[in-house]
Amino acid sequence: MERLIKYFVPEKYILDLEVDKFKKTIGGVVKVSGEAVSDTIKFHAIDFEISKVLVNGIPCEFKNDKKILEISGLEPGAAEIEVSYNGTLNENMQGAYLSTYEYEGKTETIVATQFESHYAREAFPCIDEPEAKAEFDVKISLPEGSDDLVLVNTPSPRMSTYLLAWAIGHFHGKTIKNKHGVEITTYAALNQDIDSVDFANEIAAKSLEFYDDNFGVKYPLDKCIQVALPDFEAGAMENWGLVTYRESMLLVPKSATLGTKKSVALTVAHELSHQWFGDLVTMKWWDDLWLNESFASVMEYYAVDAIFPEYKIWEGFFTGDCLAALRRDSIDGVQSVHQDVNDPEEIATLFDGAIVYAKGARLMLMVIRAMGWDNFCKGIKEYFEEFKYKNTVGDDLWRALNKYADFDVKELMHTFIDKPGYPVISDGKQKRFLLDGEMPESSWPLPKIMEDMSGHYILNLSDKEFEDRLARFDDLSLEEKLRLLIDRDLVSKTELSSSASLLPLVFKFREEMSAAVWSIILTIVSGLKIFFEYDSVEEKKYKEFVKDLVASGISKVGLVAKKDDDENILRLRSILLALDFYAENETNLKKLADLYDSDYEKLNAETRSDILDAKIYVEPDILTEYLEAYKNIADPEIKYDLLLAMTLMKDKTGLLKVMKLLEQPEVVKPQDQFHLFIYLYRNPRVKTEVFEWLTTHWEYVKKMSGDKSLDNYPRYIAGTIKTKEDFDEYLKFFEPLSSEPALARAVEMGKNEINARLKLIESDKDAVTAILNKNGAR
Ligand SMILES: [Zn+2]
Repeated sequence: MERLIKYFVPEKYILDLEVDKFKKTIGGVVKVSGEAVSDTIKFHAIDFEISKVLVNGIPCEFKNDKKILEISGLEPGAAEIEVSYNGTLNENMQGAYLSTYEYEGKTETIVATQFESHYAREAFPCIDEPEAKAEFDVKISLPEGSDDLVLVNTPSPRMSTYLLAWAIGHFHGKTIKNKHGVEITTYAALNQDIDSVDFANEIAAKSLEFYDDNFGVKYPLDKCIQVALPDFEAGAMENWGLVTYRESMLLVPKSATLGTKKSVALTVAHELSHQWFGDLVTMKWWDDLWLNESFASVMEYYAVDAIFPEYKIWEGFFTGDCLAALRRDSIDGVQSVHQDVNDPEEIATLFDGAIVYAKGARLMLMVIRAMGWDNFCKGIKEYFEEFKYKNTVGDDLWRALNKYADFDVKELMHTFIDKPGYPVISDGKQKRFLLDGEMPESSWPLPKIMEDMSGHYILNLSDKEFEDRLARFDDLSLEEKLRLLIDRDLVSKTELSSSASLLPLVFKFREEMSAAVWSIILTIVSGLKIFFEYDSVEEKKYKEFVKDLVASGISKVGLVAKKDDDENILRLRSILLALDFYAENETNLKKLADLYDSDYEKLNAETRSDILDAKIYVEPDILTEYLEAYKNIADPEIKYDLLLAMTLMKDKTGLLKVMKLLEQPEVVKPQDQFHLFIYLYRNPRVKTEVFEWLTTHWEYVKKMSGDKSLDNYPRYIAGTIKTKEDFDEYLKFFEPLSSEPALARAVEMGKNEINARLKLIESDKDAVTAILNKNGAR
């Protein structure tokens, strides 16, 4: 991929734009001053009509192939380029795009932006590379008579093009000031409750204070604006001083659960840490994207833990992010955290959450723990001071940290960042842990081996060592408990241990009251489902087993959330009820269904999704009411609960109706279509029909989803397949598509993952069934 900064180094952009949401157009004059390095210069410019180019005020020759604007005949040296252009607004949630919502019987339209990673070039001609930092000044004119609010993050200090943003439309919001004098405003669409921005304001205010205090460099802007957008492809985007979010990732309505508050808190803290790491100091090129994301993905936990210690937020890191990283990183073909990128299409596939975010965060935590938080902050402060408004590579960070560490940060991190995978340690010897195939000898440098969650490795204990730790389980620290179970689950998926031992193991935990421990039990129980065919005698027995497993816990916590339930009990109950739902416990499903009230805001928020799931399970006709409500309700959390409940129902006729929503983006927004698809696919009652639908609607799916998420389809489908027949169908459809750079890795890894699973079923199925037939060792 050719870098355009080698021809022209921009210093300042002045954008004078006209944006018309009715005509769906964008255009105007872009003035860029900077330094021409050669007599021909190039700008990224996707699908624009370009009417005129001036260089230092003089008309100039240019070529426009709708991807690159090439201007020739320059004198090298300082130059001012003026480009007059016209383009259209996108509808696929990238570049400058249209987003809509319904309010008081009318459709409201917003113009928003998503420029990361390489979509600024779809909104205006520019050198669209992170290294090409410049100052920006944007003026936006609207059609005559428009009363839209225009939010834009300029004039800006020096920053990369991907951090520029605007949002134009009807919003309402609230402003507060934090203790350090930063003005924080959070906006939402008019159909959202104005008070639903309060929590986001609070967490933003406190996160910025936390980072000010710990990073030693103050938040460099005087304002921080956050906007919830009705259509948003990712979770959120850290545009400098104008952070954009999916509604469900920012708004906390009165009806919200503690789980929603936690995820909003983490998301806001993540984006705001990027204001330093990513925005103030930026990676030189996309191969170091992990520099941004690993850092932000660990910092969000430090910040939220400091602000709301009662959330016990680290538990979620260990049982969520760490587990996701370990599972993904055990599949052959996985990328390394640091990854070369050439093709622009490849930039999109770099965002493998389990690796770039979760594994990266785990590695960062390993370093922070090894050097200590205070020393880490000293290094970070120097790093920010040295490189502010500039670009860096990974080694710049390691150099800054090395000064305050008593070990070689650079050496430790290079091996983990540049290589895929991690070691499994047996008797002090290590091999690369792989779910399928030979595990080669390996030599990762490891700090002291700990039995807590530090360190990206797993321990393969002998049966005796394992039993010994189980016997004194109550004396272990929570992290030691989690590692013991997580590592055992992973090794049991290989020749190192048998899956059959997991059944009696989980049953030992039926009286356990820690939600964190239970979330690993949930993982193990879900993992064992692969051994039972849908609707078979064995599956029915397994469901009975699961029902028994959770019975004692449910009788202790009750079906419905109570006022004085703490964070642990709320989380525990939702895990137990999820398993009880899988077990199809008719008695409890009926009890929950009886609590249904069509005024969803009246339902106990923490039990709402369980009630909605149960109601439609026992009474499929309620689907009509759910569908109507889904169309009319704006609250993102209730909408999500309804959508999920509709995909979990038992009635096939109803499920096929729900499947029709896959072709109704006016009902289920494109941003939510993948969720709808994969939840339906995971319902064995319609799995075949849903896959068939995908194969016949692939072009439509491609058009609708942003290219960042297309690889979710081969990836998450692979996570569910457990029969040879389904694998054949998978190969038939996805193999021919694997020549596309955006899909290649996901398909390759999908194949490896399914292969490993089919082999595991073959080798362990008899033993697992035998134990289940002996009553599951209860
Ligand atoms: Zn991020």
